[in-house]
Amino acid sequence: MSELAYPYEAPASQALFDRAAAVTPGGVNSPVRAFRAVGGTPRFMVSGTGPYLTDADGREYVDLVCSWGPMILGHSHPEVIAAVQDAVSRGTSFGTPGEGEVALAEEMVARVAPLEQVRLVSSGTEATMSAIRLARGFTQRTKVIKFAGCYHGHVDSLLAAAGSGVATFALPDTPGVTGAQAGDTIVLPYNDLDAVREAFRAHPGEVACVITEASPGNMGVVPPADGFNQGLKDICSENGALYVSDEVMTGFRTSRAGWFGVDGVVPDLMTFGKVMGGGFPAAAFGGRADVMAHLAPAGPVYQAGTLSGNPVATAAGLAQLRLLDDAAYAKVDAVSKEIQGLVTGALAKEGVAHRLQTASNMFSVFFTDRPVRNYEDAKTQESFRFTAFFHSLLADGVYLPPSSFESWFVSTAHDERAVQRIADALPAAARAAAEATA
Ligand code: PLP
Repeated sequence: MSELAYPYEAPASQALFDRAAAVTPGGVNSPVRAFRAVGGTPRFMVSGTGPYLTDADGREYVDLVCSWGPMILGHSHPEVIAAVQDAVSRGTSFGTPGEGEVALAEEMVARVAPLEQVRLVSSGTEATMSAIRLARGFTQRTKVIKFAGCYHGHVDSLLAAAGSGVATFALPDTPGVTGAQAGDTIVLPYNDLDAVREAFRAHPGEVACVITEASPGNMGVVPPADGFNQGLKDICSENGALYVSDEVMTGFRTSRAGWFGVDGVVPDLMTFGKVMGGGFPAAAFGGRADVMAHLAPAGPVYQAGTLSGNPVATAAGLAQLRLLDDAAYAKVDAVSKEIQGLVTGALAKEGVAHRLQTASNMFSVFFTDRPVRNYEDAKTQESFRFTAFFHSLLADGVYLPPSSFESWFVSTAHDERAVQRIADALPAAARAAAEATA
């Protein structure tokens, strides 16, 4: 490990990482946390306040990950913490229905017009897995169309992301996913409606649903081209398939009604997670009441969860959603724009070819001079420049997602001081990106 590449040592984090590696595969409970894409020592965080995280070595960072999206009010928001403490004081799990889950569902349904009914689960993966099962049960069809570069959690059939040709049957992306599980998944290039039409032509009456990130953030930020989501919806409607919009990342982040609030395209089913849980494991899927009526116990499609609708998680989510009014979104949007401007300004000043792409207040930087419309485009970026950029910012106390294929997230808590710290760190990071070699 050269000093130049990783200019700041993190001995306490390294010691924890060593301990973790002995008892946990790769030392982490979710792979991207291991810093494999950028190298170096993952920072073990011990606390978060507002826009800041503090690591085990006592260093403070301006957080541009926000727990991968959920912490849209910043860390330890007093009203969210108070709601959690109040809920905890009454018990942590009952295994019965409770008012908190009703109130959270009502809040979600009130904010997102196409959401007529909602079922709470504990992770985004569960939400997409269940939505796919419901789509198959409702349509009595087997095949699912997804897009390369879109991530929908680690659902077996949705881990099939390989294959760029039109209507190719996907090969499993990971050992442990069988050909049979992946074989009903059709993987298509993102932003390509012709490929979708062709897939429907090739498989008449077989496609249960198209699932897409409402605006993808898992290959970096690659927003849908004008008319793409509406085109998907129309093609689905014409062919008796369901349009499933995965809003796990965008839901209640890109507007008070998520990406639906931005493009207005009405899905048949939607999935949610992240922001709606207020930093706790809460997620959901929902949509058309006639489709949701097929779900157990109302209908025959089975789905369940011991901790679904957990009273502490729903209290946190509800408190967070209730604080997310128009003023809060205006604030997140404004600070996001400000940081975007600082990032492009610093990179441009050093002559670094880059594309900053946005989806409302979500954004990411691709180190390329070409627009990125799909996963193939995203893969052509010079990721080695991101690595240098990332480590320079980390050394100067700014915490970016440790991969160039991830969205950056900000919060209402990112104030002038936090923005100034980013501004101060950017010139050196841009220089590092400019000087980086493959
Ligand atoms: N769908 C999208 C769009 C996501 O971004 C994610 C996670 O990042 C998921 C689904 C899976 O959610 P979880 O990690 O809660 O299982």
